[in-house]
Amino acid sequence: MKVHDQLYINGEWVRSQSSAAIEVHNAATEEVIARVPAGAPEDVNRAAQAARAAFGAWAATPVEQRSAYLQGIADRLAARSDEIARTITAEVGMPIKLSQRIQAALPPQVMASYARLVREHPLEERMANSLVVKEPVGVVGAITPWNYPLHQVVAKIAPALAAGCTVVLKPSELAPLSAFILAEVIHAAGVPRGVFNLVCGTGPVVGEAIARHGEIDMVSFTGSTRAGKRVSELAAGTVKRVALELGGKSPSIVLEDADLGRAVKGTVNSCFLNSGQTCTALTRLLVPESRYQEAAQLAVETARTFNPGDPMKDDTRLGPLISGTQRERVRGYIRKGMDEGVALLLGGVEPPPGLERGYFVQPTVFGRVKPGTTIEQEEIFGPVLAVIAYQDEEEAVRIANDTIYGLAAAVWSRDEERARRVARRVRAGRVDVNGGAFNILAPFGGYKQSGHGREFGRYGLEEFLVVKSLQLVDNK
Ligand code: NAD
Repeated sequence: MKVHDQLYINGEWVRSQSSAAIEVHNAATEEVIARVPAGAPEDVNRAAQAARAAFGAWAATPVEQRSAYLQGIADRLAARSDEIARTITAEVGMPIKLSQRIQAALPPQVMASYARLVREHPLEERMANSLVVKEPVGVVGAITPWNYPLHQVVAKIAPALAAGCTVVLKPSELAPLSAFILAEVIHAAGVPRGVFNLVCGTGPVVGEAIARHGEIDMVSFTGSTRAGKRVSELAAGTVKRVALELGGKSPSIVLEDADLGRAVKGTVNSCFLNSGQTCTALTRLLVPESRYQEAAQLAVETARTFNPGDPMKDDTRLGPLISGTQRERVRGYIRKGMDEGVALLLGGVEPPPGLERGYFVQPTVFGRVKPGTTIEQEEIFGPVLAVIAYQDEEEAVRIANDTIYGLAAAVWSRDEERARRVARRVRAGRVDVNGGAFNILAPFGGYKQSGHGREFGRYGLEEFLVVKSLQLVDNK
């Protein structure tokens, strides 16, 4: 068992002011695999003071030098990618091959993208007699979830450090281990003391202390809509800048002229990725009434290929969920769907055969789901797909937009122009057209209650900059 008994504050590993610890579980076996400190508000205070003290010098560090530090972090993360993939598979449960390709491979790519972007990003603009300059916003508090634990952290830390901000990070208490690897990497890369600080702990204690703290200028939060609202309320006390990346209930609109096989397969793959614990998961498959039977059958066939099992094995496609609590929540939704009379086409509340231990849930497909029902409206965050029939394009768009969320969506049609037209009508921050791939340079974020931050690429960098105008005397 791995025991981390220290936090990383001001360039050193130090003991928490609290003696409490948090146990980290292996999602597939339920065994305790590690212990980390349950930080206290005083730890946040120390970290915020250290970040404040380091801010001036870091903000003044030439962009080329900050870029070189980021590249150093990227290289060191890439060198430890096997360890990162195995660590995240153990705590989160994502099948190892996917962990290698996503959980371990994306963070160094994103870090390196900011090493490049920050060198190219214009920080000055002339407007008549004014010079508009962009400056780092200050000390940033970053609060992140467990589903893509290192990716979500790097999506904040990389642009924040690139912009010249200093950081206090609170990773998820359910999957904190890769954040410790990151702190080691940042230390080894020689980043000056106080620029990056790690305080792990629970949301209500450490997260809320970050959101409240007077020395923290901005809080960047990724997680549930419920906790995001709380963070916003607390941040208002000091008028902090707030960036929120929250939940989703993303629709996949299959138009009647679409390649049905590709569309359904693409949707099911997205829905069941990481056992449905992906904020952008396409969890609502919208198909025209005329093609409903065929689509539902294809969805079930594809879902069956997600064989649950040991996530450390190369041929497993569906790992466990993150925790017992999450498993019960998801089972509750499946029960609710059945109680509301929705047709269960595959799966159910029982654990997959032979997998009573570990937080497993069967791949589950509901058919003819009615718009407005609980399982059609609420984020389940488990391997549960809702297939919905619609009459015409107007109705499809209406159903797609009729939730509190607006994080992601997909549109499928053989007519690319038509697909793009429908994509523009969907109120979501990202719409995949005919299976277009994830792009680490494109802005990522929500409409409506999916949040209002944008991460990745140059829009992600802008989040951590603040504009100042210098009014000059025009001598011309
Ligand atoms: P969560 O809201 O429970 O926790 C997220 C983080 O917030 C954790 O670090 C947690 O400790 C902290 N937190 C919890 N309560 C808090 C409080 N009162 N004050 C301050 N911090 C608090 O979410 P989760 O269960 O870890 O993650 C799943 C959720 O995250 C899903 O809703 C998912 O859609 C969302 N998510 C969104 C994105 C995105 O980019 N939009 C990405 C991944 C996950």
